[in-house]
Amino acid sequence: MAKICVIGSSSMDLVVTSSKRPSAGETVLGDSFATVPGGKGANQAVAAARLGAEVTMIGCIGDDYYGKAMMDNFKSNGILINYVEPVTGVESGTAHIILAEGDNSIIVVKGANDHVTPAFVEKALDTIRTADMVLIQQEIPEDTVSYVSDICREFNVPMLLNPAPARPISNSIIENASYLTPNEHECSVLFTGMSTTEALRKYPNKLFITEGSNGVRFYDGEQEVLVPAYKVNAIDTTGAGDTFNAAFAVALAEGKSLQDSVKFGNRAASLSVTKFGAQGGMPTRAEVEESL
Ligand code: ADP
Repeated sequence: MAKICVIGSSSMDLVVTSSKRPSAGETVLGDSFATVPGGKGANQAVAAARLGAEVTMIGCIGDDYYGKAMMDNFKSNGILINYVEPVTGVESGTAHIILAEGDNSIIVVKGANDHVTPAFVEKALDTIRTADMVLIQQEIPEDTVSYVSDICREFNVPMLLNPAPARPISNSIIENASYLTPNEHECSVLFTGMSTTEALRKYPNKLFITEGSNGVRFYDGEQEVLVPAYKVNAIDTTGAGDTFNAAFAVALAEGKSLQDSVKFGNRAASLSVTKFGAQGGMPTRAEVEESL
């Protein structure tokens, strides 16, 4: 069983659907409302656990109703929660999502996710040092990502950084990371002024650019490789990237080749987009293997 340590955000998505998006000062009647656990860290932890990995989540929740619901969600997915802590007097991270007029508008409140500091993560040092793979994203402070990347380098633990949401990052984080998985937009922010081809050639076997229904591109040291996505009837692509990252990390941690790991990631992500919700569509190990 691969040991995956996820260091990242947990949020509650508050999703309202409406035929009309209110303009400033306006009140409209909506059609439905749902609360669904999300956050890139939590999503990737759930996806990795469904794929059969032993997952430890390192993150912070608020001392509120949403925090309790997120904790229950970790438990019901079999995720180890020794390092998921409620922060006293702080609200949980939330994403306020309006689905209206065929598009979404989102306000994210980081809340407790800002408390995932280097000092907090340090408590889990032994777990991080003995992980087969550390999986981390950018919904937590940058100095934490930097600190984790230094630890991983020092103790020789592979680190997969999913650089989402997009923000420029230091060269040392890029150097310390074993794998980087931006989508096309995140890649352009990460490597401004560089073409995709230039960026890929600079980081052979490290930079994996996800291109939605097109697949995933990397440079193997000799040539650019496009591992094609699977053709499916996509219903909801929310969480596709999270599922890809988790599955890619699990496959790498199990010692699969780069190409097979990307393929495994693509297969899991393609299954996830055939169902509604980020976590709702995340496949089990058996579902991915049956369809490979
Ligand atoms: P993000 O969700 O982070 O923007 P992408 O849109 O690049 O990331 O999607 C991540 C991965 O999910 C893709 O590399 C692909 O494997 C899979 N995927 C996304 N959209 C589709 C789709 N419409 N059909 C099949 N696979 C998809």
